Amino acid sequence: MSEQTVRDRIAGRLQCGECGFTTSSSSAQFAERAVCPYCDGPLVRRGDDDLTVLQTRLQEFRTKTEPLASFYGKMSILHRIDGNRDREAVFSDISRLIEDKR
Ligand SMILES: [Zn+2]
Repeated sequence: MSEQTVRDRIAGRLQCGECGFTTSSSSAQFAERAVCPYCDGPLVRRGDDDLTVLQTRLQEFRTKTEPLASFYGKMSILHRIDGNRDREAVFSDISRLIEDKR
């Protein structure tokens, strides 16, 4: 998944002020009001601190996750899945990989 995709998803994220349920503004746009489907609480955009948290996560990905990926890559047991697509496409690819390994 590209860093831009991660940024876009975080920027479009809405969270319920009451129960913490998280959704995206694209999923919520069909509703008449931006309210939580579980508790009717207000759906609000999360603060800029999300982008600070994102910087930390991206840094950790580069220092901790990517080295592991190259390790598994050398053992030829690494599978890469394009996460820049919609949820169903990504889930279907992951499911197929797991099924093939059985
Ligand atoms: Zn809620």
